[in-house]
Amino acid sequence: MKLHEYQSKFHFAKFGVPIPQGKVAETPDEAAAIAEELGGTVVIKAQVQVGGRGKAGGVKLAKSPDEAREVASQILGMDLKGLEVQKVLIDPAADIKDELYLAVTTDRAARRVLIMASTEGGVDIEEVNAKTPEKIIRVHVDPNIGLRSYQAVDIASEMGLPREHWRQFGRIVQNLYRCYTESDASLAEINPLIIDGEGNMVAVDGKMIIDDSALYRQKDLAEQRDTAEEDPLETEAREADVAYIKLDGNIGCMVNGAGLAMATLDIIKRYGGEPANFLDTAGGANAEKVAKAFRLLLTDENVKAILVNIFGGITRCDEVAQGILDAMKEVEVTVPMVVRLVGTNDVEGRAMLADTDIITAETLSDAAQKVVEAAKSAS
Ligand code: GDP
Ligand code: MN
Repeated sequence: MKLHEYQSKFHFAKFGVPIPQGKVAETPDEAAAIAEELGGTVVIKAQVQVGGRGKAGGVKLAKSPDEAREVASQILGMDLKGLEVQKVLIDPAADIKDELYLAVTTDRAARRVLIMASTEGGVDIEEVNAKTPEKIIRVHVDPNIGLRSYQAVDIASEMGLPREHWRQFGRIVQNLYRCYTESDASLAEINPLIIDGEGNMVAVDGKMIIDDSALYRQKDLAEQRDTAEEDPLETEAREADVAYIKLDGNIGCMVNGAGLAMATLDIIKRYGGEPANFLDTAGGANAEKVAKAFRLLLTDENVKAILVNIFGGITRCDEVAQGILDAMKEVEVTVPMVVRLVGTNDVEGRAMLADTDIITAETLSDAAQKVVEAAKSAS
């Protein structure tokens, strides 16, 4: 789950990372009031979860409350890379002398936490990585040992940061590392971490990604989810408690079990078809859950045929059949559907579907061939 800039920065602050003392506004008048309260020049920033807002016109300065109202009215409601701006962050404008980059992330291949830092902050870090990769310092941290203070100093020295900034930078690295680990994050990024005219470092931009699997124990963060930013299909999948990943093909799949779901995708391809999604009904598949998963599949416009592949163990095939029948009462099924039910109560399950338009299959290859055929004739 991604956090907005303001959410990330307010969270950083709890761990002692210095941030500008700004506030969020949802209307131009609120923006003017915050600018009045802060006094002086403010920066008005679109709160949408995309990078490069600055270049796209989503970050602007305002010298007075009236100008803040004007700028906020331009930014609010604006379309930024396909997302509508609903909130702006009003920060006191920073006096920027230098822009650094600092991030804590997960390096899965190395099984370590990775700290990345660069004096080339502010701009797109991917661009720095492509053109001058030597300007990004990388240090791995063993999560069992934690970050050692000498490592923070090493980073500062390798970056070529002037010595007078080492202590302050080291503290920020330590605090951001703590924020990352204690929040179950997969990313905590500051770009830019600025050095102002008085030599102080401030996190002017912030980004955090929290591991979805840890949200049950990160309740404060979980509550901050902004569903307006998510793919509606993914929101629905999460609420239905199924694992859903959208793919590019036209055969919608509903399977119980991740392994079986992957095998199903493979065999669809084996017979010349293209799956529209991966969907694992994750643990059990009672009627209600099947109905939800089923509705989810049908909302994808690319889907030209559906394959339901259930191996009944603890999940009973008759229950799954009931779920399909229930879902079909609520959602108009306009595409052909192939159902393969095998295992506990499969005979009962198939019998329940006998009087419908559903095509039943007993083997996986039979099911795959039938659904590929159905998708071809439908498109
Ligand atoms: P991003 O483009 O989405 O990454 O948004 P940022 O928050 O990183 O802002 C982009 C750029 O705008 C920064 O790299 C700065 O150069 C500039 N910027 C952001 N805040 C301020 C500010 O308070 N004062 C000034 N002068 N520039 C700012
Ligand atoms: Mn940025």
